[in-house]
Formats: sequence, C-alpha cells, structure tokens
Amino acid sequence: MLVGRRDFLRLTASAGAGTAIGGLVGLGVTLAPAVARAQELRIKDAKTTPSICPFCSVGCATLIHTVDGKIVNIEGDPRSPHNEGTLCPKGAAIYQLHMNPNRATTVLHRKPGAKDWEVVELEWAMDRVAELIKKTRDETFIDKLPNGKLVNMTPAMFALGGATLDNEFNHVCQKFWRGLGVVAIENQARI
Ligand code: SF4
Repeated sequence: MLVGRRDFLRLTASAGAGTAIGGLVGLGVTLAPAVARAQELRIKDAKTTPSICPFCSVGCATLIHTVDGKIVNIEGDPRSPHNEGTLCPKGAAIYQLHMNPNRATTVLHRKPGAKDWEVVELEWAMDRVAELIKKTRDETFIDKLPNGKLVNMTPAMFALGGATLDNEFNHVCQKFWRGLGVVAIENQARI
C-alpha cells in the first residue's frame, strides 16, 4: 500500500492514532523489510562477539557487534536458553554505556552553600571523599551497644550503588563498606 506525505502527516498528528508508525501499521503497511534492512546495514560487516550482560546474576547472553574495534550494536543472543534473545531495559541499554554523548567524563564538585558545580581533579576528589569518610567514621563509630553487645558499626554513612554497577563491582563495594562498619548498604537496582 502506498502512503503519501499528506497521509503520513495526518497519521502523525492524529491523537487517536497513537504513533505514526502505529497508524501506518494500522493501514496495512508492513515495516518488516525496512526494519530488517536497517538492522542489516547497522551490523553489516561487523564482527560479532558473544558476551554476557554484567548487571545481574541472571547473566543474559548478548552479542556485541564491532566495526574496526568500535562497538556499533549490542543485543540479546537468541541462542541463549534462558534469555532467548531478550534483554531487560537495563541490559537493552548497555550500548549507551559505551556510546553516549551525555556520559559525564569529568568530576564535578559543589561546595557547601554554593549553587554551581565546578570541575575538579579526580585525585583531589578521591582525597576529599577519603578524608570525609575517615572523619565521619571516627566521630560516629560505635563498638558496643549500651547492653554490651559488640556491633563495630557507624550509623552515619549510607552506601547507594547505581543500577549500572556490575556484579563484581557491587561485591567489592559491599565488602569495602562492611569493612568500615557501614550497615546501610543498598543498590538502586532494587529500589
Ligand atoms: S540486568 Fe537484565 S539483561 Fe542484564 S543479566 Fe540481568 S535480567 Fe539480563
């Protein structure tokens, strides 16, 4: 079925029609060849490397497509018996971890009371974080409760991991915080 520019715009503007693509499909237009061709072009001549999504213990299988050593696509591996080519939203966004113009590449610091952020050196930021952790722990550490129970903890710090931290990082991270006596440890993936 042929759809003119006017029909396409009408479908796009139509509130009841949902998306233009939905409207086109509703008119009986099949998008399969176009989608298949776009997919083919994106990964044409790409090297395919099997891998695993790093984000949770489900361990969904992925296929990573690279051209000249640069990642051009990551998708679920249909050969996997447990994810069968699918990925959850986190896994489906792995590509954006590698290729993303919005990714922060500098360390930002906002001084107490300031409203603007400023770029600082990573070394300075690491020293500042270490200094504040030590100070807070020293000031708040509780070795025993009033009833004599040994707890060796601080209630003054809280660790919150991000959804894109992988299994290995989270393992090391919780060991680090527990070693300092921090007991409030959570990961944004489960909140
Ligand atoms: S985060 Fe999602 S895609 Fe990744 S392994 Fe877990 S369930 Fe699979």
